[in-house]
Amino acid sequence: MTTSRIRVDEKQIINCRADLNQLVPFKYHWAWEKYLAACANHWMPQEINMAADVAVWKDPRGLSDDERLIIKRNMGFFSTADSLVANNLVLAVYRHITNPECRQYLLRQAFEEALHTHAYQYIIESLGLDEAEIFNMYHEIPSVAKKAEWALPFTLSLGDPFFKTGTLQTDQRLLRDLIAFYVIFEGIFFYVGFTQILSMGRRNIMTGTSEQLQYILRDESMHLNFGIDVINQIKIENPHLWTKEFQKEIINMIKEGVELEYQYAIDTMPNGILGMNAEMFKEYLHYIANRRYTQIGLAEQYANASNPFPWMSEMVDLKKEKNFFETRVIEYQTGGTLSWEEEST
Ligand code: FE
Repeated sequence: MTTSRIRVDEKQIINCRADLNQLVPFKYHWAWEKYLAACANHWMPQEINMAADVAVWKDPRGLSDDERLIIKRNMGFFSTADSLVANNLVLAVYRHITNPECRQYLLRQAFEEALHTHAYQYIIESLGLDEAEIFNMYHEIPSVAKKAEWALPFTLSLGDPFFKTGTLQTDQRLLRDLIAFYVIFEGIFFYVGFTQILSMGRRNIMTGTSEQLQYILRDESMHLNFGIDVINQIKIENPHLWTKEFQKEIINMIKEGVELEYQYAIDTMPNGILGMNAEMFKEYLHYIANRRYTQIGLAEQYANASNPFPWMSEMVDLKKEKNFFETRVIEYQTGGTLSWEEEST
């Protein structure tokens, strides 16, 4: 029996007709490039020194109560959120995004989500936090619970075993769920907590925790960028899905996400900490949301929002943080994709 060979133009992001096992010929080079870049960024949580964090955490005067609340609530949210993300990726997104280049990245992303959950567990264990208290926050602390609850319906519909794409309605449902998952959950819901903890690292406290989160943030920004490429490619291949009505729905969905994240900012820092308060986070979230809107081809919704934490972009783009990461980045440089060693000379 002869079967015809796969042609690149048979590959599609959704409703793909091509052989799912044939990685090449590549159609979506961006997905393969992201897979290679992610592998070159490899790191492990237990190789980051937590001794300074343990000392400051155990010192009764080491941190203010407000700072301790920030650490605990964020561990509460993140420790369960990244499990939720991993489950959604493997049980749902992977079923519907069948293109082999994208799946190669999804497999790498799934491992990174496991590393992130590992990192949170490692921080919780190092500091000797009450594990039952932390891991139950997503049931017990309203602003933590609300973000997880908001995300669940979107992930459930993706995971529905009877759900199939192929109609206008179901294709829109998948696209909506991908936007909720990548743009809001990964692209907005991590930012308040990461900014709070990274600001401590900048003040030279909780430096191990901060370094863990810096690595996670680097991975997350790649997850977000991959998600945005997938979403935009679906739009290119299926322009009929992107109706005015659908766009309005997405605009409102992102606004809802911003509001939830703002509530989370209030709840995690009722009194503010050095150099930041909940109001600054409102501005920051508007700034981030504007970027998310334009990344998926929608108009900015918050006029004149500016970034009150410009140093955060340096945190994402580790190339600008060479000194801090120099040794480890070079150690983990396996694929030759990054050439920071040369840049630092
Ligand atoms: Fe992620």
